Amino acid sequence: DGEPRNERRITVIGAGLAGAVLATLLANRGWQVDVYEKRGDPRVAGYAGGRSINLALAERGRHALRLAGGDDAVMAQAVMMRGRMVHFADGRTDLQRYGRDDSEVIWSVHRGELNVILLDIAERAGARLHFDRALESVDFAARRASFRNPASDEVETVDFCSLVGADGAGSSLRAAMARETDLGERTEYLGHSYKELEIPPAQDGDFRIEPNALHIWPRGRYMCIALPNDEHTFTVTLFLPNEGEPSFASVRTGADARALFERDFGDALPLIPRLEHDFEHNPTGLLATLYLERWHLRDRAVLLGDAAHAMVPFHGQGMNCAFEDCVALADHLDRESDREAAFARFQAERLPNARAIQQMALENYLEMRDRVDDDDYLLQRALERQLADRHPDRFVPRYTMVSFRRVPYAVALERGNAQRELLVELTRGHASLDTLDWNRVDAVVRERLEPLAADL
Ligand code: FAD
Repeated sequence: DGEPRNERRITVIGAGLAGAVLATLLANRGWQVDVYEKRGDPRVAGYAGGRSINLALAERGRHALRLAGGDDAVMAQAVMMRGRMVHFADGRTDLQRYGRDDSEVIWSVHRGELNVILLDIAERAGARLHFDRALESVDFAARRASFRNPASDEVETVDFCSLVGADGAGSSLRAAMARETDLGERTEYLGHSYKELEIPPAQDGDFRIEPNALHIWPRGRYMCIALPNDEHTFTVTLFLPNEGEPSFASVRTGADARALFERDFGDALPLIPRLEHDFEHNPTGLLATLYLERWHLRDRAVLLGDAAHAMVPFHGQGMNCAFEDCVALADHLDRESDREAAFARFQAERLPNARAIQQMALENYLEMRDRVDDDDYLLQRALERQLADRHPDRFVPRYTMVSFRRVPYAVALERGNAQRELLVELTRGHASLDTLDWNRVDAVVRERLEPLAADL
């Protein structure tokens, strides 16, 4: 039955964001790590000429990067985002801070540059990276995996001890595992898709709009967002339903996109000179949530990151959650020499938390596109800030728990629900905070919310 199970040797599928971080964490602890990646080495082929796509990095992700020794290099190219810059339909703008000060912010990082940094640290830690190797089939009984080189079409078969699937939402390892056992897989499509557009630098080379914010143009059933890049551009993402008006069914050409922007995103339109070109040439991305009941196949294979729990991008947590998975899996593997038990513990710890952030990500779409400009919401947010100041140990806003702390996602979801009920209840019938009875408010908070451990 193949190799001894407790050998500190592992084969990772995918050298994307999670694959590279996991490889680094394990190689740093003396594991022998081989990573197989479908694409070529981006450090050789280069991302040059490609589009800039960025991601919001938050505390969970930074924590994992610190453990892997990559935080300084990543932060050197990150752009701070203090809050949401809301662009109202009438052209007014308003910065809604995410946290209390600049210690509570998120960071925009360039996906391509991030991947290059992570590959460098993985290699430096001793992981062996094999590029141009797409996982094609797995013989789990014999512990042999076959990889195809997409360029030469040659197939190479290697022995493994266990496989880790860090091969993203369309995971080939997941498909291979599903041929052996029922993973309880279910994909829920959101019914909305996205298109990326670009705001180039201004004539003088500077940013065209406020760089230290995540810009949002909320328009009810749809929205645009823009995140800054260190090269002074912004990546704009237009989210629209797939059907109805407007939708990707009704907005089909560059001219349709211009008409939509003229009507709904007037202040963004002059910032995107290649709107028609970007709209027609960039692919339309589908959005879905992937749920699995099982993440591992005995001691042979385990999934993490998007391969296990792809989510919609509205909380900016997919990568952050994937990095948190890497830390958890490395810890369980290191602590527990029985591989199957380690995988089972990893799944027991992470699956409920993945479910919770998947749900919060879905909820955040509604909040971003429809609520950030609504009066009730703004009053509740104002009270939330007051309560967070008055009871910092008890009332921690959900966004703060998710983005600036490492409270397990499931705890953040549960406490967030209790807090939201409280905000709705306390502001009911009030048009401003001036008419609240603060003695009662404070008593209710103390009665309903237990203190949250300071180290979470
Ligand atoms: P991936 O990054 O997808 O990496 C998978 C790797 O596996 C790739 O390198 C791929 O080439 C390789 N691979 C695939 N198939 C094979 C195969 N058969 N054999 C070998 N290798 C293979 N997250 C955030 O935290 N913040 C954000 O702001 C954010 N914004 C997002 C915006 C959008 C529009 C989208 C779609 C996602 C966003 N995410 C964000 C989510 C984030 O991109 C993912 O959660 C993250 O990339 C998951 O990392 P991963 O390593 O699991 O998968």
